[in-house]
Amino acid sequence: MKLQEYRSKEILARYGVPLLPGETATTAEEARAAAERIDGPVVVKAQVLVGGRGKAGGVKLAATPAEAEARAGEIIGMDIKGVTVRTLLVAAAAEIAKEYYLGLILDRASKAVIMIGSAEGGIEIEETARTHPDAILSVPLHPLIGLQAHNVRRASFFLAIPADLRSAFATTVKGLHAAFMDSDADLAEINPLVVTPDGQLLALDAKIVLDDSALPRHPDLEAMRDLNEEEPAEVQAREAGISFIKLDGTIGCMVNGAGLAMTTMDLVKLAGGEPANFLDIGGGAKADRVAAAFRIILDDPNVKAILVNIFGGITRGDEVAHGIVEARQTLTREVPMVVRIVGTNAAEAAEILQAAQLITASSLDEAAAKAVAAAKSALSAEPAS
Ligand code: GDP
Ligand code: MN
Repeated sequence: MKLQEYRSKEILARYGVPLLPGETATTAEEARAAAERIDGPVVVKAQVLVGGRGKAGGVKLAATPAEAEARAGEIIGMDIKGVTVRTLLVAAAAEIAKEYYLGLILDRASKAVIMIGSAEGGIEIEETARTHPDAILSVPLHPLIGLQAHNVRRASFFLAIPADLRSAFATTVKGLHAAFMDSDADLAEINPLVVTPDGQLLALDAKIVLDDSALPRHPDLEAMRDLNEEEPAEVQAREAGISFIKLDGTIGCMVNGAGLAMTTMDLVKLAGGEPANFLDIGGGAKADRVAAAFRIILDDPNVKAILVNIFGGITRGDEVAHGIVEARQTLTREVPMVVRIVGTNAAEAAEILQAAQLITASSLDEAAAKAVAAAKSALSAEPAS
C-alpha cells in the first residue's frame, strides 16, 4: 500500500526527519488559508500516488496566499497519469542549494534492506540511475543488526554531505530507517533531501510503501489507505475476503488457491486467451463469497467468458456449485461460464451444474480451451464499434 506524501511526512516527522510545516487542502480557498497560516512562500503539491508530479505540473511554488490560491485552482482536478487530483499539500517552501536522493528498499533478491543514496537527487533520479549508475550508492544493510554507524558514514561521504550537516544527515538516515522498520515498509524514500543556501538539511518529498501482508499489525497505517486511488474492484474484493488483481484480458477467472489461480491463468494463455484477472476465493468459500466474486469479475466490461476452476479440499464442490447457480440468478450480465470442479464432492457438484445447464469440463486444459473459444465467439458476435 502506497502512502501519500503528506502521510509519509507525518510518519517521518515522528522519527525526527527534518521537515517544513504543511497542511492539506481540498479547495483553492483552503490552500489560501493554509498559506496564510504558514506565513511565507509555499509549495502547492498534488497528492497522488504516482511519480513525476513535478514534471506533470503538479508541484508549484507560490510567493503569496493569493498565488497559492491560484496555483491550487490549477492543480485541483488536474489529471496526472490518469489520476484526478483531489487533495493538495500546501507546505512551506524551501530554497534549494543542492538536491540529494535517500532511500531504503526491501530487496527480495538479496534478502536485505538496501540503502540507496545519490548526490544527483530530484526529478531526474530515474534518468541518472539509467545513464550514470556509478552516481548511485547502494549499500545492503545487515539483516540482523540493521543500520550501522559505518553505513551512515559511507553514505555521508559518498554524497559529500557538508561537514557541518553530517550530524543532521545521520539523524535523517536513522529516522528514515526506524520509520521503515517500525512500519514494515517495502520502500521509504526522500527525494529530494535538500541543503538550503543557509545550510539547513530538509526532506522536501517523501514516499512510503507498506507491505500489505503486514498491515494487520498496523491498524493506524491501514487507516491511511486512500480508497480514491485504488481499483474499485480490488477494494470490493478485499472487503469480501477475496484476493483479486485486475488484468487486461477477456477471460474472468474464479479459482480457489493462489497457486491454482496462477496455473489457471497460464493455461488460459496457453489456450490462446488472456486472463481478465487473478482471483483466489480462498479456502472454504461459501455461496455468498462465490456470488461476490462473480459480481467483481462481471463489473469488468472486458470480461466475455468466465472460467471457474475449483479444487475441492476444505472447499466443498457442491457448496461452490450451489453458489454458482444461485449467483447466476442475481447477475446483471450474462456471459458464458465454463466450470471445472474436482475433489471433495465433485460428483454432487457435477449434478448440480448439469441440471443448471452450465458448460462443464473435467480437465483444466479442456476448461481453458472452452472458455477461450466462448470468449472469442462472444467477441466476434459483438457489433463493431
Ligand atoms: P515529484 O516530482 O512527485 O517527485 O515531487 P517533489 O515533491 O519531489 O517535487 C519536484 C521538484 O519540485 C523537486 O525536486 C524540487 O526541485 C521542486 N520543489 C519541491 N518542493 C520545493 C520547495 O519547497 N522549494 C523549491 N524551490 N522547489 C521545490
Ligand atoms: Mn520527489
